[in-house]
Amino acid sequence: MATIASRLQAVKQRIDKTAKIPVALLAVSKTWPAEAIREAFDAGQKAFGESYVQEALDKMQALSDLDLEWHFIGPIQSNKAKSIAEHFDWVHSVDREKIAKKLSDSRSGMPPLQACIQVNISGESSKSGAAPEEVLPLAKFISGLQNLKLRGLMAIPEPTTDVMRQRARFAELRRLKEALCEEGYDLDTLSMGMSDDMESAIQEGATMVRVGSAIFGSRKAT
Ligand SMILES: *Cc1c(COP(=O)(O)O)cnc(C)c1O
Repeated sequence: MATIASRLQAVKQRIDKTAKIPVALLAVSKTWPAEAIREAFDAGQKAFGESYVQEALDKMQALSDLDLEWHFIGPIQSNKAKSIAEHFDWVHSVDREKIAKKLSDSRSGMPPLQACIQVNISGESSKSGAAPEEVLPLAKFISGLQNLKLRGLMAIPEPTTDVMRQRARFAELRRLKEALCEEGYDLDTLSMGMSDDMESAIQEGATMVRVGSAIFGSRKAT
């Protein structure tokens, strides 16, 4: 059995082999216990992604002795926005004004919450994510909020093994970010790429890949 440390090392090598610019690694620890996160931390990993609020809060408590950076990457229910704002450093899945405002209102007195807009790019069946044409007005809205710092865009394209299709979808997100930058938005983050498609994402300009199973193992029931 490969250890978390050795799989983490292998993922970093995959990133280094492809990347021409610095690419941050977010270890997606959803469904994995606190001990797995501790093991990854001992191997040098500091940033972790979670999709379920209560599960994440339990792990934060169990790991409060460690200096970790927590990223919320799941769909945001309105009644969970306050907990997310109070406990996470980043949120990748902002997709509407109402949620953005709630996050900001619940963040006062803390450093700004680092935020990405989740975009529903072409070929996605998921209901989450802003439509591409909603991104510019949402970016404008978020930029007017006190306690959110807009960092960039995130997407979860539908899985495909067709590398050209993977790249086309990631390119779409990159072009959307470029369009926002041309409008004057100061964005430095493209959160895209997971265990099975991170090379394509990196080739299209990802600055942060979100990797779960390649580090922690398959989430599927054994
Ligand atoms: C689970 C998840 C990941 C990681 O997926 P893997 O295929 O396990 O690498 C990345 N991003 C989001 C939003 C996720 O929910």
